[in-house]
Amino acid sequence: MKLGAKADVFIPDGSTVESALSRTTHLCICAHQDDMEIFAFHGIAECFNSTDRWFTGVVVTDGAGSARNGGYADYTDEMMQQIRMREQRKAAAIGEYSALIQLGHPSSTVKNNSSASVKSDLISILQACRPQILYLHNPADKHDTHVAVLSRCIEAVRSLPQASRPASVYGCEVWRGLDWLCDKDKSVLPLSGLENLAAALIGVFDSQISGGKRYDLATAGRRLSNATYLESHATDSITAATYTLDLTPLVKDDHMTLEDFTLGFIERFKADVTERILRFN
Ligand SMILES: [Zn+2]
Repeated sequence: MKLGAKADVFIPDGSTVESALSRTTHLCICAHQDDMEIFAFHGIAECFNSTDRWFTGVVVTDGAGSARNGGYADYTDEMMQQIRMREQRKAAAIGEYSALIQLGHPSSTVKNNSSASVKSDLISILQACRPQILYLHNPADKHDTHVAVLSRCIEAVRSLPQASRPASVYGCEVWRGLDWLCDKDKSVLPLSGLENLAAALIGVFDSQISGGKRYDLATAGRRLSNATYLESHATDSITAATYTLDLTPLVKDDHMTLEDFTLGFIERFKADVTERILRFN
């Protein structure tokens, strides 16, 4: 597998890169270090302690633009990149990932849709992993780099033959939750159990948490909130959940645009709100 010069590959159990990628069943491709622990915990948990399911994570950017504060306030971009890579490796070891690939692309390269380097790395990884399930950012996220990474991922998946594409592709929550989706449009991934593992995975990203952002509390809070506010007339059957937008139709139909696909969810949300107001008005 040929990747860009800055790519860092870590295999926690010491297997060869080839075998670690080929055994992958669940793949996550995200923009930044800690994004996958926030949005793809469903996949990490499904593979933890399993003998036949393996989770591989890919971080596309170099983490240079991270916010910093507290003990990290004086860190240069270079030092932040190093510490964030180390933290991501720690998470991969704790979560027993099959492989962790940190591609190290500058955010500006990811956002440039005429640059082929990100897409070609992603194609190589997808071909080597052939995952059944793929976790990505969602297209209604409010972080530019997240949406840019998602676009590069959809392009990469679409360059594969249909038979090589993942069976399920989920767009998940980080910068903007998906509570606004109509219930029938929500693909809910239950996360009950393994709260200790979830806490341990987020907890290693000290440069972010001590650095001033309580992602540990906010992520657990969102999962609890998702489980509780899913159903108003039933008691909680799950204690934590991630909401996702099912992106699978986008990789089944290459003619569907990402914007038209996403606007369909917004139109249905608009119709739902309008209809309920008019019913009681
Ligand atoms: Zn991010």
